[in-house]
Amino acid sequence: MITAIAGGVGAARMLRGLVSVVPAEDVTAVVNTGDDIVLHGLHISPDLDTVTYTLASAIDPVQGWGLEGETWNAMEALDRFGGQTWFRLGDRDLATHLYRTQRLSEGAGLGDVTDEIVRAWGLRLRVLPMTNERVETRVTLAADGTEVGFQEYFVGERHSVPVRSIRFHGIEQAAPAPGVLDAIAAADRVVVCPSNPIVSIGPVLAVPGILDAIAARRDDVVAISPIIAGAALKGPADRMLVELGHEPSVLGVARLYAPFASTLLIDVADEALAGAVAAEGVRPVVVPTIMRDAETSAALARAVLAAYS
Ligand code: GDP
Ligand code: CA
Repeated sequence: MITAIAGGVGAARMLRGLVSVVPAEDVTAVVNTGDDIVLHGLHISPDLDTVTYTLASAIDPVQGWGLEGETWNAMEALDRFGGQTWFRLGDRDLATHLYRTQRLSEGAGLGDVTDEIVRAWGLRLRVLPMTNERVETRVTLAADGTEVGFQEYFVGERHSVPVRSIRFHGIEQAAPAPGVLDAIAAADRVVVCPSNPIVSIGPVLAVPGILDAIAARRDDVVAISPIIAGAALKGPADRMLVELGHEPSVLGVARLYAPFASTLLIDVADEALAGAVAAEGVRPVVVPTIMRDAETSAALARAVLAAYS
């Protein structure tokens, strides 16, 4: 049994590797929902969908989000009315949000709805949202102190503006979704996927009870650094670390993760920092960590498993 803490793209690639080297039914992903947004009255869960679509081999390989071969008729039609089209939703992707919203309005929990969607895609791993409650990652911009929703920062501003602070609205009232704490406690191994430490892994850890549950498993927790040679492969993780006072390197990641992870996989490009990582009390394992395709994802998954022995 492996339980993985997951954000979006980096996590999805890691999970795809894991299910190719162990039976998929032995893998549980606990996924960030702080990025969730309601648009057009629809409940959109970007990280849950990125994980599902990637594992179903249905993800758009160029964008890294959304469905491959997608069409955009609904967005074009919406433009006529001056509707909200800054957050692009493809025609087939819309069906996921329609279904999720309908089921939630019937009173189903997000965990149950996620399970229905994952099974409908024919997947055998278990995918759990971090919580069934509504938690919103909110970003205060450095320039003028205005606070915006995560997607307004990430998509609307193309994450190109400096950040002053981050908070997770609603987190105090949130509880781990059914199955989350058990999945962490019962797992043989807990994997922290290569995702943005602040806005992907951060919200999951902030749900009351989850950090303690993971820290209790520290000896069995292996994390993969999303930062390679001082940079994120994609997205704002490196800049965000700097803006919030952390070191934008595997060392910064080691300091953030030391309370709950005993081992950190760092890229071969960061071999020179292995000693500094060890000095933070985290065992470094130096391996290639860039997942370009199914084979490199599988190789990283094997390295994760080997890190336990
Ligand atoms: P998002 O929710 O889609 O923005 O994605 P995540 O939070 O899961 O991932 C963003 C982070 O994952 C970035 O910092 C990337 O550098 C990192 N990442 C993406 N792909 C890889 C990969 O193949 N290897 C490693 N080590 N990190 C990756
Ligand atoms: Ca995300």
